[in-house]
Amino acid sequence: MAKTIHPLSQQIQSPLAALITHQHEKIIYHHDPTTGLKAIVAIHNTILGPALGGARMWDYANEAEALQDVLRLSKGMTYKSALAGLDLGGGKAVLLGNVHQLKTEAYLRKYGQFVESLQGMYITAPDVNTTIDDMVQIAKNTSHVVGLPTLYGGSGDPSPLTAYGVYMALKAVAKQVYGTDSLAGRKLAIEGIGKVGTSLIASLAKEGAHIYVTDILSDRLQAIAKAYKVQVVEDLAAFYDLDMDIYVPCALGATIHDETIARLKCVAIAGAANNQLADEAKHGAMLSQKGIRYVPDFVVNAGGVINAHTEFYGCYNQTLAQQQVEKIYDTCVAILQASAQSNLPTQEVAIRIAEERIQSIQAARLL
Ligand code: NAD
Repeated sequence: MAKTIHPLSQQIQSPLAALITHQHEKIIYHHDPTTGLKAIVAIHNTILGPALGGARMWDYANEAEALQDVLRLSKGMTYKSALAGLDLGGGKAVLLGNVHQLKTEAYLRKYGQFVESLQGMYITAPDVNTTIDDMVQIAKNTSHVVGLPTLYGGSGDPSPLTAYGVYMALKAVAKQVYGTDSLAGRKLAIEGIGKVGTSLIASLAKEGAHIYVTDILSDRLQAIAKAYKVQVVEDLAAFYDLDMDIYVPCALGATIHDETIARLKCVAIAGAANNQLADEAKHGAMLSQKGIRYVPDFVVNAGGVINAHTEFYGCYNQTLAQQQVEKIYDTCVAILQASAQSNLPTQEVAIRIAEERIQSIQAARLL
C-alpha cells in the first residue's frame, strides 16, 4: 500500500537551521529499538510555562516532513496558549510510523518514559492517532501527561469543548460581519466530520444554520445526514466552489492555498483544523486582500488545550473549562476588529497580541 502523504510536505533545512528559523528552544529526538518508537519533541517557547501539546502519530513520508510538522504545530501551541490566557508554553510531539503496526502498551510506556526524561519541560496529550486511553498507558511512566479519561480524574475527550470554541468563534465572526451573532440561516461549509465536526454540527443544527458537510469517509456522511438536517457534498473537488458564507475546516491542515483561495466565495473562515494556511504569511495576506476574514486556527481551536490546562493544575472542572472557552468569542472579536482598523492580516494581528503577552510577562519577571 502506498505511504500516506501528509499535506505539510514542504521540505526544510537541517534541524539546527530549522531551530533557528522557527525560533524554537529545543528539538529532542528519541529512538527505542525494542518497540520501534521514533519520536521528535519540539519545544517552541516556555516563557509562560511548560510546553503542553499533543503527541501526533503519523506515517510521515520522510523525517523532514515529520520535523516540519512538529515545528509548525509546536509554534502554534505557543500562540494558542498565550491567546487563551493560559500559563503554558508551546510544544508538540510527533511519533513516526504506522499506528496499526507500532502502537502497543510497551510502545506507549516507552514514550511515557521519554517524556519523563524531559523533567516536565514538555507535557504530552492526545492528538491525531493518540487517544485518551493511550494517555493511561503513557501515565504509567510519566506524570507529565494530561487528557486522561474522566474515570481517571482526567479531562476526557477534549473534542466537545474544542467544538464549543469553534461555535463561539463562528458567532463572533457573524457578529463582526452581519452585526448579529445568530447563525440561523447562515451557510456554513464544514470540511471533516470527525469528533469536532460532529459535535459542532449538533450546535449549528440547533441554531438553524444551513450546513454543508464533506468528508473522505462516505459512511460518516451518511450517518450525519441521518442524524441532522445537513446538505452532503460527496464531491470533495466541488466543495470550495460552494455558495457558502463561512468555510469551516475541521479535517487536516494546509487546505488554504493559492488554488482554494481563488475558488472560495465565503466572507470568512473559522475552523478547528491546525495549521490551515499552507504558507502563513503569503496566504494570510491573500485572504486579507480578498476581503475574507480569517480567524487563525490557534485562536479558534483552543478549547482542547483550555480543557487540558484545568486538568494540569489538578482540579479539572468542566464548568470552569467551559467558561474559559467562551472567552474565545471576545478574543475573536478583538482580533477581527484590530485587523479591520490596522489593515493587517488577522494572523499577524493574533501573533502580535500573543507575543505582547509573552513579552510583558517576561519583562515583569513574573514567572
Ligand atoms: P478526527 O480525526 O476525529 O476527524 C477528522 C475528519 O476529517 C475525519 O472524519 C476524516 O475522515 C476527515 N478528513 C480527513 N481528510 C479529509 C479531507 N481531505 N477532506 C475531507 N475530510 C477529511 O479529528 P478531530 O478530533 O475532529 O479534529 C479535527 C481537526 O481539528 C484536526 O485537524 C485536529 O488536529 C484539530 N483539533 C482537534 C482538537 C480536538 O479537541 N479534537 C483540538 C484542536 C485541534
